[in-house]
Amino acid sequence: MIKKREFYIDGQWVSPVQANDFDVIDPSTEEIAAVISLGSQSDTDAAVAAAKGAFPAWSALPLAERVKVIKKFLEIYNARAQEMADAITTEMGAPLDWALEEQVGAGTWHTEGFLEALEKFEFERRYTDTEMHVLDPIGVVGLITPWNWPMNQICLKVIPALAVGCTMVLKPSEIAPLSGVLFAEMLHEAGVPAGVFNLVNGDGPGVGTQLSTHPDVAMISFTGSTRAGIEISKAAADTLKRVSLELGGKGANIVFADADENAVTRGAMHCFNNSGQSCNAPTRMLVERSRYDQAVEDAVKTAETRGVGSAHEHGTHIGPVVSELQFNKIQDLIQNGIDEGARLAAGGTGRPAGLNRGYFVRPTVFADVTNDMTIAQTEIFGPVLSIIPFDTEEEAIEIANDSPYGLTHYVQSQDNAKRMRVARRLHAGMIQTNGQGLAKGAPFGGVKASGNGREGGHYGLEDFCEVKVITAYAD
Ligand code: NAD
Repeated sequence: MIKKREFYIDGQWVSPVQANDFDVIDPSTEEIAAVISLGSQSDTDAAVAAAKGAFPAWSALPLAERVKVIKKFLEIYNARAQEMADAITTEMGAPLDWALEEQVGAGTWHTEGFLEALEKFEFERRYTDTEMHVLDPIGVVGLITPWNWPMNQICLKVIPALAVGCTMVLKPSEIAPLSGVLFAEMLHEAGVPAGVFNLVNGDGPGVGTQLSTHPDVAMISFTGSTRAGIEISKAAADTLKRVSLELGGKGANIVFADADENAVTRGAMHCFNNSGQSCNAPTRMLVERSRYDQAVEDAVKTAETRGVGSAHEHGTHIGPVVSELQFNKIQDLIQNGIDEGARLAAGGTGRPAGLNRGYFVRPTVFADVTNDMTIAQTEIFGPVLSIIPFDTEEEAIEIANDSPYGLTHYVQSQDNAKRMRVARRLHAGMIQTNGQGLAKGAPFGGVKASGNGREGGHYGLEDFCEVKVITAYAD
């Protein structure tokens, strides 16, 4: 069993002030895979003090010096990719190949996106002949991340914060902290100066809240549930922190009758990927009536052929969901779908055949869903697809927008004018059409209950800066 009780503070691994053990459970086996410690106020204070102490020197370094450290980190990260993938497989149940290619790959992708954006990023922007707008790093930042895409989220926060000259305290998810610990080792190896990056493990009520309320933390960048996002915003209000939020989603995927023939299979696959644990998953499939029956058939076929199995095996199957808590929540929501009258077309409650241990969920398809049902309004965070028929373009837009969330919506149609017309009227941070993903460095973020942040590339760098105006500017 791995023991990772130490925190990374001021350039070294230190023991927690008070012992407070927490078990990390491998969701494929339900066994304890590791023991970490949950930090206390003194640990958080020590980490924030280290970050505060390191800020003047780090923020004053020429950009090229900070970029050099990030490039060195990327080299190490790529060289130790397999180790990172193994940690993610163990802590959150991403199958080996998915963990390496997608989970670890996302960290590389975002780090490269920031490095490319930095080549053109202007920290000083001349506004008039005599006025300059200067972007300063905001200061000490608290970074709170979830368990579903650990390296994706950590890189989207730590790399831009480092790049613009912020110093920081990272609190990874206590459910999936092993990748964060490894990430800290890599930054150390890359030569990040002491105090610039600090890691304290802990939970929301503990270290999470201590960071959100800390007077020396200028900003919290958070990814996770809308519930926690609201709590953090309230906790941060007294110290007037900037709060950047990446929260949940309930993506609508509008499939018009003229969509390409793979549109439904692609959408269902996307919904089930990562065992449905993605905030941008297209979990509501809205299908034009003339294609509806065929769409249900295609989605059922996808669910029934989507293998489910141990994350410790190679292959293209999906793994378990992260925890017993999430497993039970998903089971309850599947039952709720049945009780509210949706037609269970594939999957259902209980584990897939042949699996009696591990938090494995059956890929599930509900047909004849109406948008007011709980399963259409709630972020399930499991491999559960809801299919809703529609008759007109207007109705599809209305259903898609009728959600507390607005992260990613999707449109499938071969009619370019219609696809763009609909995309422009959808209320979300990202509209992906005809299966095309976001480009490297694109801003990732949402509106409404999906949050307010824009992470990645140019926008992600700006997120960690303050804008300062200087008048009667002289070179
Ligand atoms: P969560 O929001 O509780 O946890 C995410 C992170 O926030 C963790 O590091 C946690 O320790 C921390 N946290 C929790 N409460 C906090 C608080 N009050 N103050 C400061 N930090 C706090 O998410 P969860 O419990 O792991 O998952 C529950 C639900 O959240 C899921 O079902 C899913 O709907 C949603 N979720 C969304 C995303 C996303 O990317 N949008 C990611 C993870 C979870």
